[in-house]
Amino acid sequence: MTTRTIIEPFKIKSVEPIRFTNKEERTELIKKAGYNPFLLHADDVLIDLLTDSGTSAMSSKQWAGIMDGDESYAGSKSFYRFEETVRKITGMKFIIPTHQGRAAEKILFSIVGGKGKYFPNNTHFDTTRANIEFTGAEADDFVVEVGKHSEIRADFKGNMDVILLEKFIKEKGKENIPLCMITVTNNSGGGQPVSMQNVREVKEICVQYGIPLFIDACRFAENAYFIKLREKGYSNKSVLEIAQEMFSYADGVTMSAKKDALVNIGGFLALNDENLAMLCRNLLIVTEGFPTYGGLAGRDLEAVAQGLEEVLDEHYLQYRIRSVEYLGERILSAGVPIIEPPGGHAIYIDAKRFLPNIPPEQFPGQSIVIELYTEGGIRAVEIGSVMFGKYDNKGKLIPPPMELVRLAIPRRVYTQSHIDYVIEVILEVFKNRDKLKGYKITYEAPMLRHFTARFEKLN
Ligand SMILES: *Cc1c(COP(=O)(O)O)cnc(C)c1O
Repeated sequence: MTTRTIIEPFKIKSVEPIRFTNKEERTELIKKAGYNPFLLHADDVLIDLLTDSGTSAMSSKQWAGIMDGDESYAGSKSFYRFEETVRKITGMKFIIPTHQGRAAEKILFSIVGGKGKYFPNNTHFDTTRANIEFTGAEADDFVVEVGKHSEIRADFKGNMDVILLEKFIKEKGKENIPLCMITVTNNSGGGQPVSMQNVREVKEICVQYGIPLFIDACRFAENAYFIKLREKGYSNKSVLEIAQEMFSYADGVTMSAKKDALVNIGGFLALNDENLAMLCRNLLIVTEGFPTYGGLAGRDLEAVAQGLEEVLDEHYLQYRIRSVEYLGERILSAGVPIIEPPGGHAIYIDAKRFLPNIPPEQFPGQSIVIELYTEGGIRAVEIGSVMFGKYDNKGKLIPPPMELVRLAIPRRVYTQSHIDYVIEVILEVFKNRDKLKGYKITYEAPMLRHFTARFEKLN
């Protein structure tokens, strides 16, 4: 059988025009933005790959759900549909809506966190880490060794190192570890998947020490699809069945609906422990809203419920995973260094190998990001010394281990020709890489500087 092109599994009913700019205009625009793409107007961007969070295109059924949403303060029918859908997938007893993933984290860790507590994870996402540290507790990462090497290809680079996990539990004491978390896919680790076997092994350790296991489920469907493709024994199971098995090992779930629920806002916390659910709902009422809307409108709950059904469609997932992989394969075969293999939601260019002559102090990732915008109007984000760099007491930069440029792909937003265009621009920038310059920071805020920093080009 010949393999045919994997097509976008949708027709386009409503379109949003892209505003075109030329290279001359973009050279001015990025300069005015202090060479920081976060400070650009989105309207001046041609293809926006800044993030996959909250940027999904909703389906006609989701938009119909927006009209159909029930805005009753308490007991809205949209809540019951949302609750039923989340319960069908996760099997959890108590389903608590929140306005984003971090709101679910804030509530959970306010209750179980605190000084002297430790939370292991494969890799904590920034907001998870921040919410844990905000309570005085410690967030610890235990991703497997291969997950730290960009050029090593492995099927499940998001897995947790169970030997290190068990050692850590023994060292810190199980009474000081209120829960253990696994993030699927491992966002901060390049969107790499976690295997079912790994979830099972982590669960066994958790059971042995009496520690509840939580799943950060932002990209659970993408992870389940990777299991179907790559793990022995799962190729004939549906993605829903795989997701259900994965959640069957969990005692609780946090999720940002802005990822795999295919909506622009929303999240939830799902739990099996009745007492913990009661404490969380009490805090939810103070900070988010009544337990049947949790900081969202009824219509948002309707759109989340619909999105959670659509994301499990295997034609959608095949297109989703393949279109990210296609971008990765094409630039890799032309010699562009990336994290291998491509993850579920983004391609990460290795800026250190792309621009070996620009040292971390001159921000090679930022230089590529600026060039991608100037050359082709593409907005990407630096994940390297700009985002995570620290200073020693002499003011010298302490760079993070990797200098990366992330190209995150919004769900159902761009077609193959948009991606082909992105490939052309990346290859053009790569061809002219010897002409790229480093940058220096001229303004920075004391925290989370990447959002507002301003830069100057070096000669
Ligand atoms: C986005 C994300 C979060 C936080 O969700 P928000 O909706 O942005 O608050 C938490 N964990 C992971 C893995 C994420 O990708």
